[in-house]
Amino acid sequence: MASRRLNILLGVALIALAVRLVYVWQISHAPFFDLRLGDARAYHEWALRIAGGDWLGHDVFYQAPFYPYFLAVVYKSLGASAAMVRFVQAVIGAGTCATYGGIHAMLGNPTGCMGLGDYLGWKWKSKAGIPIVNVPGCPVQPDNFMETLLYLLYQVAGIAPMIPLDDRGRPTWLFGMTVHDGCDRGGFYEEGKFTHEYGKPECLVKIGCWGPVVNCNVTKRGWMAGIGGCPNVGGICIGCTMPGFPDKYMPFMDMPPGAKISSDTIGAYGMAIRALRHFTNATGNKEPKWRHNGSNLTTGYVPHTYS
Ligand code: SF4
Ligand code: SF4
Repeated sequence: MASRRLNILLGVALIALAVRLVYVWQISHAPFFDLRLGDARAYHEWALRIAGGDWLGHDVFYQAPFYPYFLAVVYKSLGASAAMVRFVQAVIGAGTCATYGGIHAMLGNPTGCMGLGDYLGWKWKSKAGIPIVNVPGCPVQPDNFMETLLYLLYQVAGIAPMIPLDDRGRPTWLFGMTVHDGCDRGGFYEEGKFTHEYGKPECLVKIGCWGPVVNCNVTKRGWMAGIGGCPNVGGICIGCTMPGFPDKYMPFMDMPPGAKISSDTIGAYGMAIRALRHFTNATGNKEPKWRHNGSNLTTGYVPHTYS
């Protein structure tokens, strides 16, 4: 029974691989095939530095580091051509491009790209009854991916129930909460303290953070060993795990449309609540009056009689 399941999985993997390889072959004549722009260029240059022996660099990691290290391994072993990278990525598929189409499927793209659910149909199920499982992210958070894979292995082995998914195929325990729910800056948001520039500790909503309406757990989970998670370390959330990414979150770095109403409302509430908290905080910062070094010992105790 186990070997039959293994054969089925292997068959599905081979068909998926064939589809991806045909796709790579189809786009190999497109004029932008070798073009690396924006993040692609930044990751490429970073990977070249790593492959050249500069393992850690000199600055704090601003972007997720797993992908450039992965690229560096590809560059070192197979060369730095875009074609080779696309080939290796065709073999390994995860993240927003594989799940919902992502950047490749954005408005005006000439490729007709789409995610697996759009391609196979959202009601598609394998013969084992497993639906499409999506682990989005640009890039995908590595622990999210490995944890989902492990869950599916348990399920195939018959020792875990059906994987719990939301209606977009995401594991609910990973994508059930928003970035904002786990953000280190949530306290500032709640008190109406917003920054208008990078490098400050306050909430980033006015400079383009979409965290309150984006399903993603990196502010809780972190990126590496529990550290990081975009807004926690100063980066705005651009909604990279969302089916509407990137079109519905652009232009990046502009305040999200609904954020004006919410931040103005919270701003007024926050101003009042800050004043009250300041008062309570000042009270708590003073020791009780019976603690003194006067001639009379006082305890603050006041006897009461009850009739
Ligand atoms: S930085 Fe973003 S996620 Fe964090 S509290 Fe502000 S709006 Fe929410
Ligand atoms: S916090 Fe936002 S930008 Fe960062 S990984 Fe999650 S969805 Fe993507």
